[in-house]
Amino acid sequence: MGYISGTDRGQTSLLPARIEDYVAADAAVRVIDAFVDGLDVVQLGFRRAVEASTGRPSYDPRDLLKLYIYGYCNEVRSSRRLERECRRNVETMWLLRQLAPDFKTVADFRRDNGPAIIGACRAFVLICRDAGLFSARLVALDGSKFRAVASGKRIMGRREIEEERLRLDRKIAAYLSGLDTADASEPDDAADAVASAIASLESRQGELDRMARRLDDEGRTTLVDGEADARPMGKGKGAKPPAYNVQTAVDTDTGLIIHHEVTDEATDNRMLHPMASATKDELCLESLTVIADAGYSNGAQASACEDDGIRACAPSNRAVNNTGDGTLFDRRAFSYDAEEDRFICPAGKELQRKQVISKERSVLYAAQAADCAACPLKQQCTTATRRYVQRHLDEDALSRMHQRAIPDMMRLRRCAAEHPFGTIKRRMAGGRFLTRNLKGTRTEMALSVLAYNIMRTINMTSKPA
Ligand code: SF4
Repeated sequence: MGYISGTDRGQTSLLPARIEDYVAADAAVRVIDAFVDGLDVVQLGFRRAVEASTGRPSYDPRDLLKLYIYGYCNEVRSSRRLERECRRNVETMWLLRQLAPDFKTVADFRRDNGPAIIGACRAFVLICRDAGLFSARLVALDGSKFRAVASGKRIMGRREIEEERLRLDRKIAAYLSGLDTADASEPDDAADAVASAIASLESRQGELDRMARRLDDEGRTTLVDGEADARPMGKGKGAKPPAYNVQTAVDTDTGLIIHHEVTDEATDNRMLHPMASATKDELCLESLTVIADAGYSNGAQASACEDDGIRACAPSNRAVNNTGDGTLFDRRAFSYDAEEDRFICPAGKELQRKQVISKERSVLYAAQAADCAACPLKQQCTTATRRYVQRHLDEDALSRMHQRAIPDMMRLRRCAAEHPFGTIKRRMAGGRFLTRNLKGTRTEMALSVLAYNIMRTINMTSKPA
């Protein structure tokens, strides 16, 4: 019977196949092509968006943007791999009309057009909204850590800086003493090499000085050498490699990422209002309902959301008020009397407002020592002379936010917000950036989110009715 055979490689064709025929009518690459062709690249601020009338012609930024979006949709992110794809992948040949820019041109485009690429990502969201694909009825917030380029070995504190400085001092001293004892007949080349080695060690010393100053100025304990914007991040007592905190606001009905941000915040605790208000502004909405997990629990942020017309739903995550080894009354056993601004304890005595703790944005209430001394419940209440209870300054907003976070909402949040991160991390080698610092990582994440949203939209609209 034999095998199914292909055509002979030397066979000439009387009617050469068009490259158009190699790309399926419903291929994702056609959506990328149509989307980018519809963008106003001048308004978005792409470099070389207007053809130069003189000099060597440059690549159209639309072509390079198409190449990057295609790459991020297909797990090809490095400029060298994209260059290779231009020469061997039929879809990229079709997309770029057989142009094959070299890797440096490709890399320079991503480096030089960060804000414009972020604008293109935003433009796609607005196109989807205008097409009625989503209404942002309910938006789920979530954050995830993405690894920086820098390795964990580059995390330096004051001790590491001091140790390296001493090592450098010893090396410089060794070079200098070598120079002093060198034979006068030593060739000039060797002396030049020593001088250049010393200069490079001194330049590293300068870098260490700058890092030490930055630690003092910013009140930090560590810095990532070579990638100043990255921060050691991780959960609990596990490893904390240099990373960035990527925040997303996801439409729960469609799974589209409406807004995203790359930040150097180690936790999500201060991200509720910035993310919710940026999403609301991006979509020009009057009001917005957002759901988030307990990591976003923050009284000041809850109040800011209410002031801004944002209905936030997040379980509160409070660990204030001493319950001893767990046997003492929890704060919930004390009822708050808003009219009198006081607490009533389980024995019916009052705890009066004592002081404001501005650092924790809370108010401390204290029982009378005499009441506690004569109280039959004291063993269950406090080991001190009297009981204290703390109340957050934004307690009411925090409680309202907590009450709205019903289990169904939280289930919805989990389903909507965690799936996009899973997909994006899979396409980004497990969630690792190729570019450095906030400038580079923001551009890279915009490409990832744009690729995710395009593929998501294709999946949504291609489903049979
Ligand atoms: S120990 Fe003090 S605060 Fe606690 S129940 Fe008794 S009186 Fe109230």
